[in-house]
Amino acid sequence: MERSCVRVPREAGEDTRQELAAAGLLDDEYEIVGDDGRLYLPVTDAEAAREAYTVVTRDVPAHDGQETPADRLGFDPSYERLGDVAIIDEDDPERAREIADAIVDSDLPVRAVIDRASKVKGDLRVRDWTVVAGGDGDDRPVTETVHREYGFEYRLDLSRVYFSPRLATERHRVTEGVEAGEQAVDMFAGVGPFVVPIAARGATVVGVDLNPAAIEYLRENARHNGVADRVTAIEGDVRDVAADYAGWADRIVMNLPHSADEFLDSAVTLAGDDCVVHYYDIQHEDDPFGPGERAIREAAAAEGYAIEVLTRHVVRSYAPHELNVCLDVRLSR
Ligand code: SAM
Repeated sequence: MERSCVRVPREAGEDTRQELAAAGLLDDEYEIVGDDGRLYLPVTDAEAAREAYTVVTRDVPAHDGQETPADRLGFDPSYERLGDVAIIDEDDPERAREIADAIVDSDLPVRAVIDRASKVKGDLRVRDWTVVAGGDGDDRPVTETVHREYGFEYRLDLSRVYFSPRLATERHRVTEGVEAGEQAVDMFAGVGPFVVPIAARGATVVGVDLNPAAIEYLRENARHNGVADRVTAIEGDVRDVAADYAGWADRIVMNLPHSADEFLDSAVTLAGDDCVVHYYDIQHEDDPFGPGERAIREAAAAEGYAIEVLTRHVVRSYAPHELNVCLDVRLSR
């Protein structure tokens, strides 16, 4: 079966396998194959893997004896896995049903298949879902699952909170820059995929979210991953919370890409005299960083901060001609 694979020299194979598995990107339905001094590691998300690796298309066999959805269908369906839930995006209900049945009847450890029924919407960035298969016979909601990312586990219910596994490598990039003893604020924390690993680096972290369900899961995820003592989870509008932590933050994460500019005044309130801000934005490819940079400069200057842009980073392509980007910016005064 043709799959997207990360291609590495054989000597780098084991390290890469571990990195991909930790990122939740290794496609465990298919075998790793090698030839000519190179290894090909099948991945679940070519776009995310491409950020750090060379990705090629390659014929790889399914694991011995494992029946894949493609074996049942005779074609390779498109789906994403989040814990034991598979996510599809199909307009035709009959085709959705056919794919969903093949997924739950295959050897994949999937208990339910859900179909995207809307775009993410509103302030809470939650989407509607149609449950297409599975999920019977247990007490928890069909849309609830436990997702593993870089060694941490996150419980979440996709029908109540925002979550995207596609940001795993980006979250890891940010987390790697954190030093023990830092004070960090995640202004739009969700279920904690930035908060938990940042706290695990030894930082003290405040995570704010408007969505009560996200905060419930954030508290549970902080406990479950052993960092609750360094995490404060606050339910509310971060614009109302910022004054309570004025001047407190060494680091701020702003992952609300369509409207982060509206929250820059609050970010500046939260910032200490030397603070790194990770500012996520979605902009046209012609000038993906300019609007964010100008907005940050203006908000910072109003409070006497100088800004230094540390990184201009493309996270992924979001839509035709639109990029999801991150600006890492140091504010100092
Ligand atoms: N950082 C998380 C992640 O990577 O999964 C969640 C990001 S999600 C794109 C944005 C989050 O911001 C949502 O969970 C939403 O509920 C929250 N949110 C939106 N407006 C907010 C506000 N005014 N104050 C605090 N949180 C807000």
